[in-house]
Amino acid sequence: EGTLYLVPTPIGNLDDMTVRAIDTLRSVDLIAAEDTRHTGQLLSHFGIDTRQISFHEHNTQQRIPELLDKLRAGANIAQVSDAGMPSISDPGTELVAAATAAGIAVVPLPGPNAGLTALIASGLAPQPFTFYGFLPRKATEQAATLASWVHHPATMIFYEAPHRLAKTLATMADVFGGDRRAVVARELTKKFEEFSRGTLAELQAVAANPRGEYVIMVAPGDGVQSGATDDAPTGTVIEQVQAI
Ligand code: SAM
Repeated sequence: EGTLYLVPTPIGNLDDMTVRAIDTLRSVDLIAAEDTRHTGQLLSHFGIDTRQISFHEHNTQQRIPELLDKLRAGANIAQVSDAGMPSISDPGTELVAAATAAGIAVVPLPGPNAGLTALIASGLAPQPFTFYGFLPRKATEQAATLASWVHHPATMIFYEAPHRLAKTLATMADVFGGDRRAVVARELTKKFEEFSRGTLAELQAVAANPRGEYVIMVAPGDGVQSGATDDAPTGTVIEQVQAI
C-alpha cells in the first residue's frame, strides 16, 4: 500500500521549497496537482520529472476513487495545491478524509502557509487564533459572518483577493468598529512584502490601490457573550487575551 504525502509549495518565493518537499515530489509515483501547468513550472525549476494528475475542486469526487485505487495498488502520491499548504483554503480536505477512512497512511510535510507567516509578524496575539480563510463573497452573508465574530476572543485570520479588499475592510470597520486593531499583510515572501498595522479605520487607506495577495488579521474581541449569533460558549465571559 502506498502513502499519501501532503506537500506545501512556495507562496511566492521559490527558495521556500524545503529539501524534503523536493525529495518527496521527486520520489513519489504521481503528483496530484491543483493546476498541473502551474506545478509543472515548479517541477521544472527543481528538475523534477514526476508524472502529474489534475486534482482540483471541480474533479475532486471523480478523482478520489481513482487516487485511492492507485494508493491501494502501492503507488506513493503527493498532493499539492498552487501555493502553500494543501487543504488550507485549497483542495485536499476530502482526499485526506477518504484516505484516512480507507486506512491509507497520510504524511503531511510542514512548509509555507500565508496565514501563519502573516500572524507571526503581525504583532497581534498569536494565541489563541482562529483561521477563517475566505469570507463569503455576498455582502449580506459576509456582514452576517463577521457579526457573529465581533466578540470572538481570538486573533482572526482572513484571506482576501485584491479586488475585494476595500469592500471587506470597510465591512470589517462597520461590524467590528473602526477602532479595532488589525494588520494587513501583502505579498508575503515576495519582493513587495508589506505589513500595515493600525485600526480598521486607519487601514482603509491600504485598500486604495490593492495589488497582490492579502492576509487580513483582526485583533481579538472581548469574549462577551452577546446573543445567539455569538460563537463563544454560552453564558461565559472569556478573559481578554494578551494585549497587543
Ligand atoms: N494554501 C494557501 C496557504 O497555505 O496559505 C492558501 C491558498 S488561497 C487559495 C490563496 C490566498 O492566500 C490568497 O488570496 C491570499 O489571501 C493568501 N495568500 C497566498 N499567498 C500569499 C502571499 N504571498 N501573501 C499574502 N497572502 C497570500
